[in-house]
Amino acid sequence: MPNIPDRESIVHMQTARRVPITLVKGLGTKVWDDEGNEYLDFVAGIASDSLGHADNQLASAISEQAHKLIHVSNIFFSEPQIDLAELLVHNSALDQVFFCNSGAEANEAAIKIARKWGITNRNGAFEIIATNNGFHGRTMTTVAATGTPAYREPFGPPTPGFVFVDYDDIQQIIESTSDQTAAIMLEPIQGEGGINVPSSNYLQEVRSWCDDQGILLILDEIQTGMGRSGKLWAYEFAGIEPDIMTSAKGLAGGVPIGAVLAKNTACVLEPGDHGSTFGGNPLATAAGAHVIKRLLNDGILENVVKRGEQLSQRLEGLQDRHSQVSGQRGIGLLRGLELSKDIAVDIVNESRKLGLLLNPVRPNVVRFMPPLTVTEDEIDKAIDIIDSVLQSLDD
Ligand SMILES: *Cc1c(COP(=O)(O)O)cnc(C)c1O
Repeated sequence: MPNIPDRESIVHMQTARRVPITLVKGLGTKVWDDEGNEYLDFVAGIASDSLGHADNQLASAISEQAHKLIHVSNIFFSEPQIDLAELLVHNSALDQVFFCNSGAEANEAAIKIARKWGITNRNGAFEIIATNNGFHGRTMTTVAATGTPAYREPFGPPTPGFVFVDYDDIQQIIESTSDQTAAIMLEPIQGEGGINVPSSNYLQEVRSWCDDQGILLILDEIQTGMGRSGKLWAYEFAGIEPDIMTSAKGLAGGVPIGAVLAKNTACVLEPGDHGSTFGGNPLATAAGAHVIKRLLNDGILENVVKRGEQLSQRLEGLQDRHSQVSGQRGIGLLRGLELSKDIAVDIVNESRKLGLLLNPVRPNVVRFMPPLTVTEDEIDKAIDIIDSVLQSLDD
């Protein structure tokens, strides 16, 4: 019997450069491959496995719901969907929610809302200002909104109406705003772009500019939201409120889900304007409701703050000791280690051999996004592994 990577290479489209291990089970921050090797998982399904792997209570919540209803059409009401909608609305600055199945879909919905709002409320304005190195998904319109040209160039003419500016540069936003502008769309911290943290007043300046011009602010909190920053939403650090916000990744602890939230003033969708077969189904929303309750009631946000500080301090220590480390940045449990050379892939590969899974988000940036339940010992162990890898690369 050929191994999984060999079988994959024949029948699965080669869209990803995969790491050559096959994961078969997990527990908390740990995962095991099919050869019995154990790893600390600091990838966590790309910041999605908020409660770690095989969490008993999350598994029970999913199982209990699966024994009642996995899926019903959105032409009917279902209670888990409204439970999660209330939890999100009561614990954010937004008023209404629509559920879908992924981050890209959530951003598609956000873009539809902003365009319809601009067309009806701002004399036909439909342009959206987005940022270079931003990331909003892989569907045709979300790649058009994504500030990495390589993601859209192979696919022909992109959806029109996106204007790009540098991240963390309010002046460029001001210069790019016109009568055609409906909204500004950005991440509170750029995740895929390399954990780029803007200056402390950037989001406030963007918010005031939107208020000044009467345009919408869309925040993509798909990676930064749901507790990853140490607050439920990263915008809370800036003391501002978006008009539209998207969530996905950690929202249901690894069960596929996406959500777009909007203020009543922005929410122009009417019956027939949007829909999804699976979006907000009982299984995914029961999982989401369980996750958000755990974040709020089980001290998990406090854990993110403490472990985030520990991680930041230990990354700083690496910078002190190793000349290849040029910086570290991030918030809560979303952090990047910046290297002076393009050796992120080497560090990730060597760390894996020593039992630590990491992601090289940029050629010179290693990304850390462990489960929000990661322990003090696990952070220490992970950094000790990278320390020894950097040591061996020094030689
Ligand atoms: C991952 C991500 C997306 C896309 O989410 P998918 O579920 O992969 O479609 C969009 N925006 C941000 C900021 C992300 O991190």
